[in-house]
Amino acid sequence: MMESLVLNAAGIPVSIVSWQRAVTLYYAEKAIILSEYENKILHSIRFSIRAPAVIQCLKTHYMPRRFVRVLPFSRRNVYIRDNGQCMYCGKKVSLANFTFDHVIPKCQGGKSEWNNVVVSCMRCNSRKGGRSVSHSGMNLLRHPFAPQLDKAAPANLVSRIAAEIPHESWEDYIYWNIILEE
Ligand SMILES: [Zn+2]
Repeated sequence: MMESLVLNAAGIPVSIVSWQRAVTLYYAEKAIILSEYENKILHSIRFSIRAPAVIQCLKTHYMPRRFVRVLPFSRRNVYIRDNGQCMYCGKKVSLANFTFDHVIPKCQGGKSEWNNVVVSCMRCNSRKGGRSVSHSGMNLLRHPFAPQLDKAAPANLVSRIAAEIPHESWEDYIYWNIILEE
């Protein structure tokens, strides 16, 4: 389903709605359209309009209660941070069957957190086993890190948006300093 990012009157992203809802807000003169999906056109007898990608509500001053600057730690977000690549051999792995590798192994007290977990293919993971990187003789392509958001983003939107950016114009309002999967 195509969704529209909603900004409040101050230009801060506050929610995500269906594009139909965004069109309704636009025709009720409650919102202006800032960008559109090029390939989704809604036709009716009187008009045709492109599905809005980003709208701004003119009178809403609602502010999200909590902002975050660090992407939540999750399996999906680790996959996005590492570009879906095994951080040892560089091979592309699918979201469904990649493994988490603990750089400092769990048995040595390594935690499941941003700075200690990388995407790994099954082969590299089993080759490394319960050893640390230096003892395994393997090399990391890049050390794991906690991705910072370039701008503070509302906590309620971050996990949804991290999964995918539906339209490039969203990145003008919420974007990451990491490369999103293609
Ligand atoms: Zn690998």
